[in-house]
Amino acid sequence: MNKQIPPETLSWFIQAGKLLFSRGLVSSHSGNLSQRQQDKLYITRTGSSLPLLAETDLILTGIDYDDQFTPLASSELPVHRAIYRRTSAKAIVHAHPPYAAALSLLEAEIIPDCGEGLYCMGAIPVIGFGERVHPGGMAEEAARALENRKVIVVAGHGSFATGETIEEALKYTFALEEMCQVTYLARQLKRAC
Ligand SMILES: [Zn+2]
Repeated sequence: MNKQIPPETLSWFIQAGKLLFSRGLVSSHSGNLSQRQQDKLYITRTGSSLPLLAETDLILTGIDYDDQFTPLASSELPVHRAIYRRTSAKAIVHAHPPYAAALSLLEAEIIPDCGEGLYCMGAIPVIGFGERVHPGGMAEEAARALENRKVIVVAGHGSFATGETIEEALKYTFALEEMCQVTYLARQLKRAC
């Protein structure tokens, strides 16, 4: 089923999985990645381990239609599909950055305390704030929020970032978490002063 994965695509999936895990932005079996391939998408297999991705962990299935491979795809497939339908994104990274997830339990919109020099991304919308969002849920809401920004957070869960490439979506994922970590630390320090 995965006979013709372009080597560069496979390489980016593998590198991204390792990077996300090494920075603590996914655990051994959380998070997922995808890349648009015309009217299809490559997406990580359900139950796959991002730091240990192999060729058989990439599933190619339709954006607008199901096929025999659809059941093998990540449970977040509905969100990835909705984002590709609604935006021009070519790649998506879904991670579980802990500082972003923690702040998303407290606020409907994460307003960063950005110092000068920090890569500041402005306010980040929290999808499903105050609700319990199951995997694959709030797909249309997440996709709508990504029409005019590169990264959003699903409440108490994790981030969805888009880009022209997986590398670009990774960049926004790391920037989000850096921003949320600094915001969290700044608030702690303010309380202590
Ligand atoms: Zn998740």
